[in-house]
Amino acid sequence: MQVFEKLAEYRYEQLVFCHDKATGLRAIIAIHDTTLGPALGGCRMYPYATEEEAMVDVLRLARGMTYKAAASGLNLGGGKSVIIGDPHTDKSEALFRSFGRYIETLGGRYIVAEDVGTSTEDAHFIQVETSHVVGVDVTRGGSGDPSPLTALGVLQGMRACTEAVFGTTSLERRTVAVQGAGHVGYHLCRLLHEDGANLIVTDVNDAAVERVVGEFGAKPVDLDEILTIPCDIFAPCALGAVLNDATIPELRCSIVAGSANNVLAESHHGEALTERGILYAPDYVINAGGLINVADELEGYNERRATKRVMRIEGRIRRILAISRRDGVPTNVAADTLALERIAAIGSMERLHTGHPYGQLSRRRETI
Ligand code: NAD
Repeated sequence: MQVFEKLAEYRYEQLVFCHDKATGLRAIIAIHDTTLGPALGGCRMYPYATEEEAMVDVLRLARGMTYKAAASGLNLGGGKSVIIGDPHTDKSEALFRSFGRYIETLGGRYIVAEDVGTSTEDAHFIQVETSHVVGVDVTRGGSGDPSPLTALGVLQGMRACTEAVFGTTSLERRTVAVQGAGHVGYHLCRLLHEDGANLIVTDVNDAAVERVVGEFGAKPVDLDEILTIPCDIFAPCALGAVLNDATIPELRCSIVAGSANNVLAESHHGEALTERGILYAPDYVINAGGLINVADELEGYNERRATKRVMRIEGRIRRILAISRRDGVPTNVAADTLALERIAAIGSMERLHTGHPYGQLSRRRETI
């Protein structure tokens, strides 16, 4: 792979290879874009088969974070990191502390969080070596389980969608089919039940289904049925790539709005949903509650403030729907436009001198 060509393709700023023979650390940090602020993104630990596979993954994920932070109104850029290794067998205090030291060398350009394969315990070891970490334990100033606020963000996003489709933000008597009653799915069912919605639910885990059936009167259905059952809203809260060539023709909903990442198997499936007259709430915007929650730690975590910020997801989805109408593009494309427009607008402020000799808020300018 031609690394610089790869970086140039999507204007990545920096790719850092971290190697520590003593601890066995082999990690890559990718910083995509810091126009809006320091790059924030999780650290994934995975036994990648090849270094190239790890690099492709970290670059793709870092770029996704740029869009997510920008569209969520956060003053953060996009970054991500990967540690090559098996999270079940290769973890140690020294490995994560060593990784924390590498993060420290970046001087705050990259802020790490948890991701697939890493935990709050790992974040604690990282925190021993650097302050540029979020998602630490609640007793250490962390924000705790993000799922309730992710679910709240999804609910707010649903309101913007129902307003566009049914003319009201109320979810009362709407039928919502929830795929996956895990951390987010459970809280989403709770919020929808409080709002008077009718729930249909499925999960591979019977206990998870029984819980929402018992507590919220949800109707259980088979795993495949959730995609084809008539409903107002289909809420994917389990897996990625659930909307694809095979499933889109089968859907019998008016709206798709859920927490799952990468819901569209491919970008063109956004167009396919539009053609079917189904309104799609872009995943990385509607599920940003978790990111907004964890990012709040940077200001000293305040649950009320984080909740208020998550509530703004309703307005963001509304703006995306407006861009979609303005440009005649599917909503997933409109979400990217919202993010890029914000980055361009804020980036262009650089031309304004702030009055500080070395630009306290903008980049330091030295005599050349
Ligand atoms: P989770 O693992 O707690 O819940 C997922 C649930 O889906 C589990 O109960 C699992 O049994 C079920 N499931 C797995 N395969 C299934 C299938 N084929 N059909 C039906 N159910 C199935 O995860 P979570 O934290 O609730 O996250 C759910 C989704 O939302 C994931 O895609 C995650 O990436 C995304 N997300 C989560 C957060 C968060 O705050 N937790 C934030 C942003 C995005």
